[in-house]
Amino acid sequence: MEIFERLAANDYEQLIFCYEAATGLRAIICIHDTTLGPALGGLRIWDYQTEAEAVEDVLRLARGMTYKNAAAGLNLGGGKAVIMGDPKKIKSRELFHAFARYVNTLHGRYITAQDMNTTQEDMNHIHEETDYVVGLPEKSGDPSPITAFGVFRGILAAVKEVFGSEDLNSKVVAVQGLGAVGYKLCRHLHEAGAKLIVADRSSEKAEAAVKEFDAIAVSPDEIYSVECDVFAPCAKGAVINEHTIDRLRCKVVAGAANNQLADSSFGDRLMEKGILYVPDYVINAGGVINVYEEIHGYNLENAMGKAAAIYDNVQQVIELAKRGNISTSRAADRMAEERIRAKKQ
Ligand code: NAD
Repeated sequence: MEIFERLAANDYEQLIFCYEAATGLRAIICIHDTTLGPALGGLRIWDYQTEAEAVEDVLRLARGMTYKNAAAGLNLGGGKAVIMGDPKKIKSRELFHAFARYVNTLHGRYITAQDMNTTQEDMNHIHEETDYVVGLPEKSGDPSPITAFGVFRGILAAVKEVFGSEDLNSKVVAVQGLGAVGYKLCRHLHEAGAKLIVADRSSEKAEAAVKEFDAIAVSPDEIYSVECDVFAPCAKGAVINEHTIDRLRCKVVAGAANNQLADSSFGDRLMEKGILYVPDYVINAGGVINVYEEIHGYNLENAMGKAAAIYDNVQQVIELAKRGNISTSRAADRMAEERIRAKKQ
Protein backbone atom coordinates (compact mmCIF):
# COMPACT_ATOMS: atom_id res chain seq x y z
CA MET A 1 0.00 0.00 0.00
CA GLU A 2 1.30 3.44 -0.95
CA ILE A 3 0.41 5.25 2.27
CA PHE A 4 1.02 8.83 1.11
CA GLU A 5 -0.96 8.27 -2.08
CA ARG A 6 -3.80 6.92 0.03
CA LEU A 7 -3.62 9.97 2.34
CA ALA A 8 -3.55 12.35 -0.60
CA ALA A 9 -6.56 10.75 -2.29
CA ASN A 10 -8.91 11.86 0.49
CA ASP A 11 -6.92 14.69 1.99
CA TYR A 12 -5.92 13.04 5.26
CA GLU A 13 -3.81 15.04 7.70
CA GLN A 14 -2.01 12.44 9.78
CA LEU A 15 -1.62 8.73 10.47
CA ILE A 16 0.14 7.74 13.69
CA PHE A 17 1.45 4.24 14.41
CA CYS A 18 1.76 3.50 18.13
CA TYR A 19 3.74 0.59 19.51
CA GLU A 20 4.81 -0.48 22.99
CA ALA A 21 6.58 -3.76 23.62
CA ALA A 22 5.71 -4.10 27.31
CA THR A 23 1.94 -4.04 26.78
CA GLY A 24 1.89 -5.33 23.21
CA LEU A 25 0.17 -2.15 22.06
CA ARG A 26 -0.23 -1.96 18.29
CA ALA A 27 -2.50 0.99 17.60
CA ILE A 28 -3.13 3.38 14.73
CA ILE A 29 -4.59 6.84 15.19
CA CYS A 30 -5.88 8.64 12.12
CA ILE A 31 -6.63 12.35 11.95
CA HIS A 32 -8.57 13.06 8.79
CA ASP A 33 -9.45 16.74 9.03
CA THR A 34 -9.25 19.36 11.78
CA THR A 35 -10.66 22.34 9.88
CA LEU A 36 -13.71 22.61 12.13
CA GLY A 37 -12.01 21.62 15.38
CA PRO A 38 -10.16 18.78 17.11
CA ALA A 39 -10.58 15.38 15.48
CA LEU A 40 -13.03 13.39 17.57
CA GLY A 41 -13.76 9.71 17.03
CA GLY A 42 -13.86 6.51 19.02
CA LEU A 43 -11.29 3.83 19.76
CA ARG A 44 -12.08 0.44 18.24
CA ILE A 45 -10.37 -2.85 19.11
CA TRP A 46 -10.46 -5.44 16.36
CA ASP A 47 -8.57 -8.60 15.51
CA TYR A 48 -7.50 -7.48 12.03
CA GLN A 49 -6.00 -10.18 9.86
CA THR A 50 -3.44 -7.81 8.35
CA GLU A 51 -1.94 -4.39 9.08
CA ALA A 52 -3.27 -3.15 5.74
CA GLU A 53 -6.80 -4.05 6.86
CA ALA A 54 -6.34 -2.05 10.08
CA VAL A 55 -5.00 0.96 8.16
CA GLU A 56 -7.92 0.85 5.70
CA ASP A 57 -10.42 0.62 8.54
CA VAL A 58 -9.02 3.52 10.55
CA LEU A 59 -8.78 5.69 7.41
CA ARG A 60 -12.38 4.94 6.44
CA LEU A 61 -13.74 5.46 9.94
CA ALA A 62 -11.82 8.72 10.54
CA ARG A 63 -13.11 10.24 7.31
CA GLY A 64 -16.61 9.14 8.23
CA MET A 65 -16.28 11.07 11.49
CA THR A 66 -15.32 14.25 9.62
CA TYR A 67 -18.59 14.05 7.69
CA LYS A 68 -20.66 13.08 10.70
CA ASN A 69 -19.31 15.87 12.92
CA ALA A 70 -19.56 18.48 10.17
CA ALA A 71 -23.11 17.51 9.18
CA ALA A 72 -24.17 17.68 12.84
CA GLY A 73 -22.98 21.29 12.94
CA LEU A 74 -20.33 20.57 15.58
CA ASN A 75 -17.01 22.38 15.74
CA LEU A 76 -15.17 19.10 15.50
CA GLY A 77 -12.98 17.43 12.95
CA GLY A 78 -12.82 13.74 12.19
CA GLY A 79 -10.50 11.10 13.58
CA LYS A 80 -10.50 7.54 14.80
CA ALA A 81 -8.20 5.03 16.47
CA VAL A 82 -7.86 1.27 16.30
CA ILE A 83 -5.97 -1.18 18.49
CA MET A 84 -5.05 -4.39 16.72
CA GLY A 85 -5.74 -7.65 18.54
CA ASP A 86 -8.41 -9.89 20.03
CA PRO A 87 -10.32 -7.77 22.58
CA LYS A 88 -10.86 -10.85 24.75
CA LYS A 89 -7.09 -11.40 25.05
CA ILE A 90 -5.24 -8.09 24.82
CA LYS A 91 -7.14 -5.70 27.06
CA SER A 92 -5.38 -4.44 30.18
CA ARG A 93 -5.27 -1.24 32.16
CA GLU A 94 -1.63 -0.82 31.11
CA LEU A 95 -2.52 -1.20 27.43
CA PHE A 96 -4.99 1.69 27.68
CA HIS A 97 -2.43 3.75 29.60
CA ALA A 98 0.07 3.22 26.80
CA PHE A 99 -2.52 4.19 24.18
CA ALA A 100 -3.47 7.28 26.20
CA ARG A 101 0.14 8.45 26.34
CA TYR A 102 0.19 8.44 22.54
CA VAL A 103 -3.06 10.43 22.51
CA ASN A 104 -1.35 12.95 24.81
CA THR A 105 1.47 13.47 22.36
CA LEU A 106 -1.09 14.97 19.94
CA HIS A 107 -1.95 17.73 22.45
CA GLY A 108 -5.68 17.69 21.72
CA ARG A 109 -5.60 17.33 17.94
CA TYR A 110 -7.30 13.95 18.53
CA ILE A 111 -9.92 13.23 21.21
CA THR A 112 -10.82 9.61 21.80
CA ALA A 113 -14.04 7.92 22.93
CA GLN A 114 -15.74 4.54 23.26
CA ASP A 115 -16.40 2.44 20.17
CA MET A 116 -16.68 -1.21 19.18
CA ASN A 117 -15.12 -3.53 21.80
CA THR A 118 -14.21 -0.74 24.20
CA THR A 119 -16.15 -0.01 27.38
CA GLN A 120 -16.74 2.83 29.80
CA GLU A 121 -14.24 1.17 32.15
CA ASP A 122 -11.63 1.27 29.36
CA MET A 123 -12.32 5.00 28.93
CA ASN A 124 -11.73 5.48 32.65
CA HIS A 125 -8.35 3.78 32.29
CA ILE A 126 -7.48 6.06 29.36
CA HIS A 127 -8.54 9.06 31.43
CA GLU A 128 -5.97 8.13 34.09
CA GLU A 129 -3.29 9.20 31.56
CA THR A 130 -4.97 11.79 29.32
CA ASP A 131 -7.70 14.44 29.40
CA TYR A 132 -8.34 13.97 25.69
CA VAL A 133 -11.08 11.39 26.18
CA VAL A 134 -14.86 11.87 26.29
CA GLY A 135 -17.88 9.71 27.08
CA LEU A 136 -16.77 9.10 30.65
CA PRO A 137 -19.30 7.37 32.90
CA GLU A 138 -19.47 10.21 35.42
CA LYS A 139 -19.88 12.84 32.68
CA SER A 140 -21.95 12.33 29.50
CA GLY A 141 -22.11 8.56 30.10
CA ASP A 142 -24.21 6.20 27.97
CA PRO A 143 -24.95 7.92 24.62
CA SER A 144 -27.80 5.60 23.60
CA PRO A 145 -30.70 7.66 25.08
CA ILE A 146 -29.62 10.78 23.15
CA THR A 147 -28.93 8.75 20.01
CA ALA A 148 -32.41 7.21 20.20
CA PHE A 149 -33.98 10.63 20.72
CA GLY A 150 -32.08 12.06 17.73
CA VAL A 151 -33.19 9.16 15.53
CA PHE A 152 -36.79 9.72 16.64
CA ARG A 153 -36.50 13.41 15.67
CA GLY A 154 -35.05 12.46 12.30
CA ILE A 155 -37.90 10.02 11.67
CA LEU A 156 -40.42 12.80 12.41
CA ALA A 157 -38.75 15.06 9.83
CA ALA A 158 -38.80 12.30 7.21
CA VAL A 159 -42.43 11.40 7.91
CA LYS A 160 -43.38 15.08 7.62
CA GLU A 161 -41.69 15.22 4.22
CA VAL A 162 -43.31 12.08 2.86
CA PHE A 163 -46.78 12.21 4.41
CA GLY A 164 -47.20 15.96 4.95
CA SER A 165 -47.59 15.60 8.71
CA GLU A 166 -45.36 14.31 11.49
CA ASP A 167 -48.29 12.63 13.21
CA LEU A 168 -47.26 9.02 13.84
CA ASN A 169 -50.68 7.84 14.97
CA SER A 170 -51.55 5.83 11.90
CA LYS A 171 -47.96 5.02 10.96
CA VAL A 172 -46.23 1.64 11.07
CA VAL A 173 -42.52 1.57 11.91
CA ALA A 174 -40.45 -1.61 11.51
CA VAL A 175 -37.51 -1.57 13.93
CA GLN A 176 -34.61 -3.93 13.25
CA GLY A 177 -32.54 -4.47 16.40
CA LEU A 178 -33.73 -3.83 19.94
CA GLY A 179 -30.43 -3.04 21.62
CA ALA A 180 -29.35 0.05 23.53
CA VAL A 181 -30.70 2.42 20.84
CA GLY A 182 -33.42 0.40 19.10
CA TYR A 183 -35.37 -0.39 22.25
CA LYS A 184 -35.34 3.23 23.41
CA LEU A 185 -36.37 4.36 19.94
CA CYS A 186 -39.36 2.00 20.20
CA ARG A 187 -40.38 3.75 23.41
CA HIS A 188 -40.40 7.19 21.71
CA LEU A 189 -42.30 5.83 18.72
CA HIS A 190 -44.85 4.00 20.88
CA GLU A 191 -45.46 7.12 23.00
CA ALA A 192 -46.04 9.08 19.77
CA GLY A 193 -48.70 6.58 18.70
CA ALA A 194 -46.83 4.56 16.06
CA LYS A 195 -47.62 0.88 15.52
CA LEU A 196 -44.43 -1.18 15.81
CA ILE A 197 -43.16 -4.26 14.03
CA VAL A 198 -39.90 -5.47 15.58
CA ALA A 199 -37.16 -8.03 15.07
CA ASP A 200 -34.11 -8.97 17.09
CA ARG A 201 -31.84 -11.98 17.13
CA SER A 202 -32.71 -12.24 20.80
CA SER A 203 -36.26 -13.52 21.21
CA GLU A 204 -36.28 -12.17 24.77
CA LYS A 205 -35.81 -8.61 23.53
CA ALA A 206 -38.50 -9.06 20.91
CA GLU A 207 -40.90 -10.46 23.52
CA ALA A 208 -40.19 -7.51 25.83
CA ALA A 209 -41.12 -5.09 23.02
CA VAL A 210 -44.31 -7.03 22.32
CA LYS A 211 -45.26 -6.70 25.99
CA GLU A 212 -44.19 -3.10 26.58
CA PHE A 213 -45.10 -1.50 23.25
CA ASP A 214 -47.77 -3.81 21.92
CA ALA A 215 -45.42 -4.51 19.01
CA ILE A 216 -45.71 -7.32 16.49
CA ALA A 217 -42.54 -9.45 16.47
CA VAL A 218 -41.25 -11.02 13.26
CA SER A 219 -38.11 -13.00 12.48
CA PRO A 220 -34.83 -11.17 11.65
CA ASP A 221 -35.27 -12.17 8.03
CA GLU A 222 -38.91 -11.15 7.72
CA ILE A 223 -38.34 -7.58 8.92
CA TYR A 224 -37.08 -6.50 5.47
CA SER A 225 -40.32 -7.35 3.71
CA VAL A 226 -42.99 -6.23 6.14
CA GLU A 227 -45.39 -3.59 4.87
CA CYS A 228 -44.61 -0.43 6.81
CA ASP A 229 -44.17 3.33 6.50
CA VAL A 230 -40.69 3.50 8.03
CA PHE A 231 -37.98 0.87 8.18
CA ALA A 232 -35.57 1.69 11.02
CA PRO A 233 -32.31 -0.31 10.90
CA CYS A 234 -30.86 -0.28 14.43
CA ALA A 235 -28.70 -3.42 14.43
CA LYS A 236 -25.80 -3.62 12.02
CA GLY A 237 -24.33 -2.09 8.87
CA ALA A 238 -24.83 -2.88 5.17
CA VAL A 239 -28.46 -3.94 5.61
CA ILE A 240 -29.49 -2.12 2.42
CA ASN A 241 -27.85 -4.40 -0.10
CA GLU A 242 -28.44 -6.46 -3.23
CA HIS A 243 -30.40 -9.10 -1.30
CA THR A 244 -32.68 -6.74 0.62
CA ILE A 245 -33.37 -3.62 -1.46
CA ASP A 246 -36.10 -5.12 -3.64
CA ARG A 247 -37.81 -6.66 -0.63
CA LEU A 248 -38.41 -3.31 1.11
CA ARG A 249 -42.06 -2.23 1.32
CA CYS A 250 -41.57 1.08 3.11
CA LYS A 251 -41.60 4.76 2.18
CA VAL A 252 -38.74 5.80 4.49
CA VAL A 253 -35.50 4.18 5.68
CA ALA A 254 -34.34 5.93 8.86
CA GLY A 255 -32.52 4.30 11.74
CA ALA A 256 -29.51 4.32 14.06
CA ALA A 257 -27.21 1.75 12.49
CA ASN A 258 -23.90 2.94 11.06
CA ASN A 259 -23.09 2.42 7.35
CA GLN A 260 -26.54 1.14 6.41
CA LEU A 261 -25.85 1.20 2.67
CA ALA A 262 -23.68 -1.67 1.38
CA ASP A 263 -22.20 0.99 -0.92
CA SER A 264 -23.13 4.49 -2.01
CA SER A 265 -24.99 3.30 -5.14
CA PHE A 266 -27.74 1.97 -2.88
CA GLY A 267 -28.57 5.57 -1.91
CA ASP A 268 -29.32 6.26 -5.57
CA ARG A 269 -31.30 3.05 -5.89
CA LEU A 270 -33.48 3.89 -2.88
CA MET A 271 -34.17 7.26 -4.49
CA GLU A 272 -35.14 5.57 -7.78
CA LYS A 273 -37.52 3.32 -5.86
CA GLY A 274 -39.20 6.38 -4.30
CA ILE A 275 -37.96 5.52 -0.81
CA LEU A 276 -36.67 8.44 1.26
CA TYR A 277 -33.37 7.46 2.87
CA VAL A 278 -32.27 9.48 5.89
CA PRO A 279 -28.46 9.28 5.85
CA ASP A 280 -27.26 7.26 8.83
CA TYR A 281 -24.56 9.63 9.97
CA VAL A 282 -26.98 12.57 10.01
CA ILE A 283 -29.73 10.82 11.96
CA ASN A 284 -27.52 8.91 14.43
CA ALA A 285 -25.35 11.89 15.45
CA GLY A 286 -26.93 12.04 18.93
CA GLY A 287 -24.06 10.02 20.37
CA VAL A 288 -21.37 12.36 19.15
CA ILE A 289 -23.48 15.40 20.06
CA ASN A 290 -23.64 13.99 23.58
CA VAL A 291 -19.88 13.62 23.95
CA TYR A 292 -19.24 16.98 22.27
CA GLU A 293 -21.10 18.59 25.16
CA GLU A 294 -18.62 16.98 27.52
CA ILE A 295 -15.72 18.93 26.03
CA HIS A 296 -17.35 22.14 27.29
CA GLY A 297 -18.60 20.74 30.60
CA TYR A 298 -21.55 18.41 30.23
CA ASN A 299 -25.11 19.69 30.23
CA LEU A 300 -27.91 17.24 29.42
CA GLU A 301 -30.37 19.95 28.36
CA ASN A 302 -27.92 21.37 25.82
CA ALA A 303 -27.23 17.89 24.47
CA MET A 304 -30.96 17.16 24.13
CA GLY A 305 -31.50 20.52 22.42
CA LYS A 306 -28.79 19.80 19.87
CA ALA A 307 -30.08 16.27 19.30
CA ALA A 308 -33.58 17.70 18.73
CA ALA A 309 -32.07 19.80 15.93
CA ILE A 310 -31.34 16.59 14.00
CA TYR A 311 -34.88 17.24 12.75
CA ASP A 312 -33.61 20.43 11.03
CA ASN A 313 -30.47 18.75 9.73
CA VAL A 314 -32.58 16.04 8.08
CA GLN A 315 -34.84 18.69 6.55
CA GLN A 316 -31.78 20.50 5.17
CA VAL A 317 -30.43 17.32 3.61
CA ILE A 318 -33.80 16.59 1.99
CA GLU A 319 -33.99 20.14 0.58
CA LEU A 320 -30.46 19.93 -0.79
CA ALA A 321 -31.24 16.58 -2.42
CA LYS A 322 -34.41 17.92 -4.02
CA ARG A 323 -32.68 21.05 -5.31
CA GLY A 324 -29.77 19.12 -6.81
CA ASN A 325 -31.88 16.14 -7.88
CA ILE A 326 -29.41 13.89 -6.08
CA SER A 327 -29.82 11.18 -3.47
CA THR A 328 -30.02 12.20 0.17
CA SER A 329 -26.78 10.33 0.90
CA ARG A 330 -24.93 12.46 -1.67
CA ALA A 331 -26.68 15.57 -0.34
CA ALA A 332 -25.49 14.82 3.21
CA ASP A 333 -21.89 14.53 1.99
CA ARG A 334 -22.28 17.83 0.15
CA MET A 335 -23.68 19.54 3.24
CA ALA A 336 -20.69 18.39 5.32
CA GLU A 337 -18.15 19.32 2.63
CA GLU A 338 -19.76 22.75 2.24
CA ARG A 339 -19.37 23.47 5.95
CA ILE A 340 -15.70 22.56 5.86
CA ARG A 341 -15.08 24.55 2.69
CA ALA A 342 -16.76 27.64 4.17
CA LYS A 343 -14.53 27.46 7.26
CA LYS A 344 -11.40 27.10 5.12
CA GLN A 345 -12.12 30.32 3.18
P1 NAD B 1 -26.52 -2.97 20.58
O1 NAD B 1 -25.42 -3.93 20.42
O2 NAD B 1 -26.93 -2.55 21.95
O3 NAD B 1 -27.86 -3.53 19.88
C1 NAD B 1 -27.88 -4.18 18.64
C2 NAD B 1 -29.10 -5.10 18.65
O4 NAD B 1 -29.27 -5.63 17.35
C3 NAD B 1 -28.94 -6.29 19.59
O5 NAD B 1 -30.10 -6.41 20.39
C4 NAD B 1 -28.77 -7.50 18.65
O6 NAD B 1 -29.30 -8.69 19.18
C5 NAD B 1 -29.57 -7.01 17.45
N1 NAD B 1 -29.21 -7.65 16.18
C6 NAD B 1 -28.00 -7.95 15.69
N2 NAD B 1 -28.08 -8.48 14.45
C7 NAD B 1 -29.40 -8.49 14.15
C8 NAD B 1 -30.15 -8.91 13.03
N3 NAD B 1 -29.55 -9.42 11.95
N4 NAD B 1 -31.49 -8.76 13.04
C9 NAD B 1 -32.12 -8.24 14.12
N5 NAD B 1 -31.46 -7.84 15.23
C10 NAD B 1 -30.13 -7.97 15.25
O7 NAD B 1 -26.14 -1.70 19.69
P2 NAD B 1 -26.68 -0.21 19.81
O8 NAD B 1 -25.79 0.57 20.71
O9 NAD B 1 -28.16 -0.23 20.05
O10 NAD B 1 -26.38 0.32 18.33
C11 NAD B 1 -27.18 -0.11 17.24
C12 NAD B 1 -26.61 0.47 15.96
O11 NAD B 1 -26.58 1.89 16.04
C13 NAD B 1 -25.16 0.05 15.65
O12 NAD B 1 -25.00 -0.03 14.25
C14 NAD B 1 -24.34 1.20 16.19
O13 NAD B 1 -23.10 1.30 15.53
C15 NAD B 1 -25.25 2.37 15.85
N6 NAD B 1 -25.05 3.55 16.70
C16 NAD B 1 -25.17 3.47 18.04
C17 NAD B 1 -24.98 4.60 18.83
C18 NAD B 1 -25.14 4.54 20.32
O14 NAD B 1 -25.28 5.63 20.93
N7 NAD B 1 -25.16 3.38 20.95
C19 NAD B 1 -24.66 5.83 18.22
C20 NAD B 1 -24.55 5.90 16.83
C21 NAD B 1 -24.75 4.74 16.07
